[in-house]
Amino acid sequence: TTWRVTAAPARLAGGTGVLLTFEDVTAVEEAGQIRRDFVANVSHELRTPLTALLGFVETLRGPAREDAAARDRFLGIMEREAARMARLVEDLLSLSRVEENERLRPVEPVVLSDLVLEVAEMVRPLALQAGLELRVRVPDERVEVPGDAEQLRQVISNLLENAIKYGRGGPAVELSLGKPQPESPLRTQGVRLSVRDHGEGIASHHIARLTERFYRVDSHRSREVGGTGLGLAIVKHIVNRHRGRLRIESEPGQGSRFTVILPSGDPGSGGVL
Ligand code: ADP
Repeated sequence: TTWRVTAAPARLAGGTGVLLTFEDVTAVEEAGQIRRDFVANVSHELRTPLTALLGFVETLRGPAREDAAARDRFLGIMEREAARMARLVEDLLSLSRVEENERLRPVEPVVLSDLVLEVAEMVRPLALQAGLELRVRVPDERVEVPGDAEQLRQVISNLLENAIKYGRGGPAVELSLGKPQPESPLRTQGVRLSVRDHGEGIASHHIARLTERFYRVDSHRSREVGGTGLGLAIVKHIVNRHRGRLRIESEPGQGSRFTVILPSGDPGSGGVL
């Protein structure tokens, strides 16, 4: 525990004295530490591609000036590094937008079944490129939840993109929408969105920390596949904002399943399905 102690002169019945005030500032200290760590992380994440960019500019001005093949190769790397910075800035903006209004529950009606199909089609080329089949299952009926369509789109695409990035080796990535399993510990009235891959999986001691900003199981691997380390932090905040729950199950070598349960908003009618 961290205490802030302040002393002030005080006039007492028997003369003068000192009044000491003790204030428990542990939470304030922790919040400050988290903010400082975050700024340090962001600076580091931006500095790495910036240093590479500046280095290549230098090389292009000097040694590689007359070498067309080298120039092409370096420009390719520079483009990749710049794209990485752009992604990071996009993710930082998304994160701050969600956090800004996290207490305000979004309520516009979102047709989740259409959204799932839409995002799946957008992401399908990525899956094909990675040699993975993308299997999508949605109920025949329309599935609607109160929410923020843009943010829910981001939840689906972040989870799907991760399943593709880290799901290599498995034959397929599966995306499904349905009711929560009756035996599920997340049992609620609502809708279940699940993304399953058959890739490398995640060791159990990492699972609880995956939604922390910039937490990565393997930073080298995350960078190689173009990750920013913010995808799951964004997912967690969006799910919180929707009063939903996120569950991560994984088995190293077998793959992972990310499940989002979203309240359907109308428990009286027995759910939306
Ligand atoms: P990143 O941009 O690094 O992918 P995320 O926040 O989306 O950041 O994920 C954090 C980390 O969680 C990743 O770096 C990776 O180690 C791990 N991870 C996320 N999804 C999966 C998955 N489907 N399979 C295995 N590991 C995963």
